[in-house]
Amino acid sequence: MRILFTAVLLLCAHCAADNVVDFSHHNNTMLAAVLQKIHNKCPEVSRLYTLSESSVRGVPLYVLEFSDNPGRHELMEPEMKLIANMHGNEVLGRELLLHLADHLCTQFLAGDQDTISLIRSTRIHILPSMNPDGWQIATNNGGGKDYLIGRNNAADVDLNRDFPDLDRLVYNGAPVNNHLMQNLKIDYPIQPETEALIKLILDNPFVLSANMHGGDLVANYPYDKSMGNSPTEYSSSPDDATFRDLAVVYASNHPRMSNPATPGCETAENEFAKQGGITNGAAWYSVPGGMQDFNYLGSNDFEITLELGCDKYPATESLKQEWEDNKQSLIEFMWATHMGIKGVVTDSLTHKGIAGAVVHVRNITRVGRAERRNLDIDHDVTSARAGDYWRLITSGEYEILVQAEGYEPQGKLVSVPEGRHQEAVVLNFALAPAAEYSAYPDTDSTPEEMYMNYMNEYNP
Ligand code: ZN
Repeated sequence: MRILFTAVLLLCAHCAADNVVDFSHHNNTMLAAVLQKIHNKCPEVSRLYTLSESSVRGVPLYVLEFSDNPGRHELMEPEMKLIANMHGNEVLGRELLLHLADHLCTQFLAGDQDTISLIRSTRIHILPSMNPDGWQIATNNGGGKDYLIGRNNAADVDLNRDFPDLDRLVYNGAPVNNHLMQNLKIDYPIQPETEALIKLILDNPFVLSANMHGGDLVANYPYDKSMGNSPTEYSSSPDDATFRDLAVVYASNHPRMSNPATPGCETAENEFAKQGGITNGAAWYSVPGGMQDFNYLGSNDFEITLELGCDKYPATESLKQEWEDNKQSLIEFMWATHMGIKGVVTDSLTHKGIAGAVVHVRNITRVGRAERRNLDIDHDVTSARAGDYWRLITSGEYEILVQAEGYEPQGKLVSVPEGRHQEAVVLNFALAPAAEYSAYPDTDSTPEEMYMNYMNEYNP
């Protein structure tokens, strides 16, 4: 047995050195074959699956998942996703994700400790092409030389304008600031690619994601749609500080994105690089119906959009350098899934997890010698099916308030350290069942109203 085991290890030590992805543009058939190959090489930590809908022309949307328990959500293990090629003629992200999947598998087999702990602590979903039809159209028509051909799907719809516009609800004063799909009906013919993504987003407790595009070089964060009538105005979300941090994680680890010496795509001066390689989406140009804002307002997922280069369809010869330039950014971004805090919300009597508990954050970080700030972050996350929750936040001091229908609310203080390659700070909540809602005179109050009452009492 031992001899056999050693032989297998030796064999794998040898095979681990061989990457299965070459530096070329992979067509839709090759893409599926490459993902299958990577999965076959790392079956114990990966799973290949397809989304609920295929593209308009029937091409499956393949996802390769990495986890120490593929196919299963594990309690308190955060999930993240990387999505590319939503615009069919923006193809670099598609190739980068194939190389990333190959890298994760290869490094895992080689025994790289950082990769092993990342895969053990994170469930990572990789979708290299959200718009395989557009890729084919772009490739058939001059290999992406045109700025627009192949951008849309085969029904000629821009998928990044096809998501329900949840910003509209927030800007018009929606009473809650999260999970806004709950009260919305989709009243237009939605594209199958969009539908597949909406189901993926709503069915899984994602914490973080990136949507990879091309045409510029910058990490773009919410909101993507502007609040007013101006097509270019800074529209900050309640989590502006956290989103800026997430965008910086990507931009600062890329040798060109945050370097002011890098020329801009249209101009010699690089305005994006001067601000660290990041931009608020709406400050650049307003995008209604985009996937980024949908994630933030429709689920617990924090998504940023990555513009990976001026050239939407870069030459084959540049792919190796592009991978080298993006590799560290991708690794650090996956680790950013562990920024902030996480924990389980349970019933203090039964010890059972409470799904849908509302986790509210108040920033009480001192700035210099000034008074302690008391800044409510007006965007709550909710616990998943088993009561587990994740809350991305920048380093600092926070008060966390958890509330669930039928329970006494609970508040706790927490100190969040700088990001590092470790799991988030664990903060669990055991809520006592409320005997009656006597604290709240109006027993017909909704959970949100009760929560607001509590907040007022809590902070007179
Ligand atoms: Zn794009």
